[in-house]
Order: sequence, then C-alpha cells, then structure tokens
Amino acid sequence: MPTYGRAPVEFVRGEGARLWDSEGREYLDFFAGLAVHNAGHCHPRIVAAIRDQAELLGGTSNLFYSEPAMRLCERLSQSSLGGRVFLCNSGAEANECAIKLVRKHAHARGVERPEIVVLDGAFHGRTLAALAATPRLAREDLFGPLPAGFVAVARDDPEAMTAAVGESTAAVLLEPIQGEAGVFCVPDEVLAAAREACDANGALLVFDEVQTGMGRTGSLWAYEQLPVRPDLMTAAKALGGGLPVGACVTSLDLGETLERGEHGSTFAGGAVAASAALAAIEIVDDPASLRSARELGGRLVGELEALDGVADVRGRGLMVGATLDHGLDAAGVAARCLEAGLVINVPGEGMLRFLPPLVIDERDLGRAIETVRDALR
Ligand code: PLP
Repeated sequence: MPTYGRAPVEFVRGEGARLWDSEGREYLDFFAGLAVHNAGHCHPRIVAAIRDQAELLGGTSNLFYSEPAMRLCERLSQSSLGGRVFLCNSGAEANECAIKLVRKHAHARGVERPEIVVLDGAFHGRTLAALAATPRLAREDLFGPLPAGFVAVARDDPEAMTAAVGESTAAVLLEPIQGEAGVFCVPDEVLAAAREACDANGALLVFDEVQTGMGRTGSLWAYEQLPVRPDLMTAAKALGGGLPVGACVTSLDLGETLERGEHGSTFAGGAVAASAALAAIEIVDDPASLRSARELGGRLVGELEALDGVADVRGRGLMVGATLDHGLDAAGVAARCLEAGLVINVPGEGMLRFLPPLVIDERDLGRAIETVRDALR
C-alpha cells in the first residue's frame, strides 16, 4: 500500500555507520534505520548471535520456556525498573501492553472509565490505542471510532499536567524526548509534575523509551539522566539489534498486574530475535559507548548551532533535532545530503533529525557537519 514516501535509493549493504546502495555508492548513515541500528549495521556479535540461534532452534511459542527470552527479560528488568517484562515485536505493541496494564490497574482501584494523559506532539505508534495516544495522527474522521480515554496536554506546561491528572487518571504516558515530533525534550518540571500528580492520585507514570532507549541519549535508558523514575517503561527499535523486538517493563510491584491469558503474542520473545536483542544490549550498554554518545552528541549540537541557516538545535546524546531558519526547505537540504552521501531525516516541516549509530567517530561527525553545511549553502 502506498503508505510511505520513499527516497530514490536502495541500500543493499551496511557496516557500522556506513551503507552502500545498489550502484555501489557509499553513504554515512545518520539515521540508523530510524534509531534501530544503535550498534551499527551488521555488528559481528549480533550477526553471530542470530546465526548461532537460527542454526540451533528458531522458536517454540510462548507456551514453553526458552532461555534467550528469559535471559532477555532478566537483562531488561535488572537494567531498569526491576519488575517483570512482556516481550513483543514493536514499539506500538509495547505501548498497547502498557495501556492494557495501566487500565487494568485503574479498574482494580475502582476507576470505571480510566483516562490516560499524553502530551501534545507525542508519538506512540500506529495501532489503534497507540494511535489514540498520538494526538496529531489520531484522525477520528479517517480511523474512528478510536479507543476513548486519552487526554492530551501541552508538552511544556507543568501546571497543565498537574490539572489534567485526577481521580480517573490511569496513567501519564510520555516520551522523555519526543523523537517523531522533531526531538523535543520534555522539561524536567513537567516530568516532576507528572510524577507528583500520579503519586497523589494513584496513577502510573509510563515512559515510552522506544526511541530514547538503548544508549541513544548517552545512558542505557533516557530516564537515568532525569529527575524522575517511571513505573513502567516501553522499549523497541534498537532493542532487537535490527530484528523486531519490543518490551514493556514494570517496576517490582506491578509485575503481576496482567495475569495468565490477559495478553500474548505468537512471535514475541522468539529465540532468534531474543538472542539478537541480548547481543545488542551488551554492545550498547558499555561505558565507553555511552560516554561517546554523550560527548559526540554534545559536539554535534554545538557544531549544528554554529551553522548558517540553523535556528535551533535540541537533543541529548546522539538524538539531535534542528529547526532551520524560516523559509529554508528541510526536505531539500536532506535530499542534497543524500546525494552527497549522508543519510539524515526530516521529522517535520523545517526540521532535520540526526540519529546516527552510536559507533560513529569524530571524523564521521566532522564529515556529516561538512555535508550539512554544504547542503544549507
Ligand atoms: N514510540 C515511539 C517513541 C516511537 O518513536 C515509535 C516509532 O517511531 C513508536 C512508539 C512505534 O514503534 P513501532 O514503529 O515499532 O511500532
């Protein structure tokens, strides 16, 4: 179906932060398959993990135990909120699981019509409940009736957040940094207001770390650098090291909210995908890699800010967005970068987004800046 706008390039090979197209041209990748290949393309340890497991056993469903899935759950839980994990196959599915869990939690507290508070500009996925949680795409006229019970508040207004959370709130669901909106950090005051209001009302705080997780911002999970801790976290994208893996992780006391038969997925936790995910976590959860993401990210922000034509730069670690001066055509700039061998993304009108694999080095960064500077000229 014609649901995507595609650039006129076919990539056929990748290695680290490099891609090659079907005509043999080399590119520097500052998009990483939409924040998926944080460990770099075709990392030998991920390739080996996939190959080894594929040769051994592909999977046997979730009706039996499987060591790769159990190890992945353990690794995810121990590295974050300490509770239980539901594995799935995408970011949207991870959020669907979180939505079901917080609604059930609210019903158990006697809330009849639970509400979930989300932020303007949010992106939580394309399935129906995740879509209803995504204000700018939740088109009732096209896809209605959408699931009810989602309320949107401004991204940067702590008072609006406090006012929106009440007795019938099941949860506040937010991305610590909004990626699809163009890389906008949610202010600490809003995060603190959300945490406080949830605690005061018995509601849960859910962080969608689908794009911010897996070392992208310079810590394994973005919340580690923030003043508040969520009750639930969702992850996907880079989690699978290139294979489709999502996860919903709970804090210790919420691990048994969803019970037997209340959620499931055929492919979830498949042995090959889980093995790839375990290898991917080992690669990105490395002090040197995380430090490099923070340092190079800081440099990227600084160098972008210095470019003529750039009005505003935002982000943390290697998740960086820029707004161009009024009237500049971001899509044209990205197309010119692509022609010059640099892959970047346009998340919205007038904006550029940079999501390189975490394995880039200073020279890659220098080359990317040069290419963007030329394209802006
Ligand atoms: N949540 C966030 C923050 C995302 O950025 C995305 C995808 O871009 C999703 C959820 C949806 O993930 P998926 O496309 O794997 O369903």
